[in-house]
Amino acid sequence: MPTPTFSARFRCADGCDFHAPLTEVVYRCARCGGLLEVEHDLDALKQRPAEAWKALFEARFRGGAWPLGSGVWGKKEWVYPQLAEENVVSMYEGGSPLLRLDRYAAELGLDDVWLKECGVTHTGSFKDLGMTVLVSAVKEMRARGKAIRAVACASTGDTSAALAAYCAAAGIPSVVLLPRGKVSTAQLVQPIANGALVLELDTDFDGCMKVVQELSQTPDIYLANSMNSLRIEGQKTLSLELAQQLGWRSPDWIVIPGGNLGNASAVGKGFAMMKELGLVERLPRLVVAQAEHANPLYLAVTAAGRKPGPEVEVVPVQARKTLASAIQIGAPVSAKRALRALAALDGLVEQASEQELADAAARADRAGAFACPHTGVALAVLEKLAARGTIRRGERVVVISTAHGLKFSEFKVGYHEGTLEGVAPRLANRSVRVAPTLAGVEDAIAARFGRG
Ligand SMILES: *Cc1c(COP(=O)(O)O)cnc(C)c1O
Ligand SMILES: [Zn+2]
Repeated sequence: MPTPTFSARFRCADGCDFHAPLTEVVYRCARCGGLLEVEHDLDALKQRPAEAWKALFEARFRGGAWPLGSGVWGKKEWVYPQLAEENVVSMYEGGSPLLRLDRYAAELGLDDVWLKECGVTHTGSFKDLGMTVLVSAVKEMRARGKAIRAVACASTGDTSAALAAYCAAAGIPSVVLLPRGKVSTAQLVQPIANGALVLELDTDFDGCMKVVQELSQTPDIYLANSMNSLRIEGQKTLSLELAQQLGWRSPDWIVIPGGNLGNASAVGKGFAMMKELGLVERLPRLVVAQAEHANPLYLAVTAAGRKPGPEVEVVPVQARKTLASAIQIGAPVSAKRALRALAALDGLVEQASEQELADAAARADRAGAFACPHTGVALAVLEKLAARGTIRRGERVVVISTAHGLKFSEFKVGYHEGTLEGVAPRLANRSVRVAPTLAGVEDAIAARFGRG
């Protein structure tokens, strides 16, 4: 049988009859102004049986054949099939660990809890998964003669780090708009090191987003925010990857922190596609976890008093300062996409306070993790759902860890030193200053663990 021709294009996510090629600079539907999504030729993909797809993905996974050893590009036919291989800009993203957290699970009365460590990757967050696709698409457009002077994004920190790194690798100019004083030191230094034009604006993320949307009207500035559905295609591979790591089985639950809500949509899309193409038998249930200080989705779903779905109207809120700075977003651009994913995956929305997210991250760390504050939000929500009996022993849960804890060392140090605003740390571990003598060290050991 000849290899089928795989293809994908943009279409209106709200169902208008609007399509555009992936090489066109277009972010919204020309008919209704709604967001776009990438539509794959599923009939072509179905010509290859599920077992053959699984074998192909496994053979490529973390292997050496550039760029197919990348977690994203190993699934290229499902992501951006027509992209010329020479235009792929890859930093070997994806292929991230799936950890079992047995000691943490036991504390919660559960027995099958896993952490998908999307932060163990080139720039330290899952944003790499989407950015490799977007920057590759830009490289392809430029190769075809499209005038793109620079790629720009507004960011709560991690998007700009990823954009700057991939653009540097490709030799494409990048511009990042950051809310001044609202990103971590590591997040600020990454785009600086990678040579981006780093602009610090005296506003919050929503304020930066507004400006960058206006900027994107400039025809030769390409917009890299997650309203750009190319990024969703790359992030979607995290679902494929974690199902693969579990032997092509869906977990019972996925818990994911949500800010702009692109990643929750991406995870939903990945599972929907795998189910449709027969790679998994059933869908997991999806839990979107929000910080109480930036909770427009939680408020909307609670006010509607119904299961989350596209009928729920999300009203923008003024996001308050939260330790989970990457999700301090009051007007999530992908709210509707996420609500569709929540409806398809029988989902729930919960929230976590500053105290809860900080303690949950520390609790997981005590069992060997090193959770960033956003992962802390997801863990805190898992703890609530376990306490409530919604998630039970015998059910398999995967928590999506969105960034590496090392990007948020201020959060970690502040927790253990007891200096975080609004947090009384329950699991603080203070370092102990001792005299430089054997007796000093022995006394400290005895004080913590008792005499031998
Ligand atoms: C971007 C980001 C999120 C939120 O993802 P959305 O797609 O905006 O919902 C969560 N955690 C971290 C660390 C992030 O960088
Ligand atoms: Zn439309």
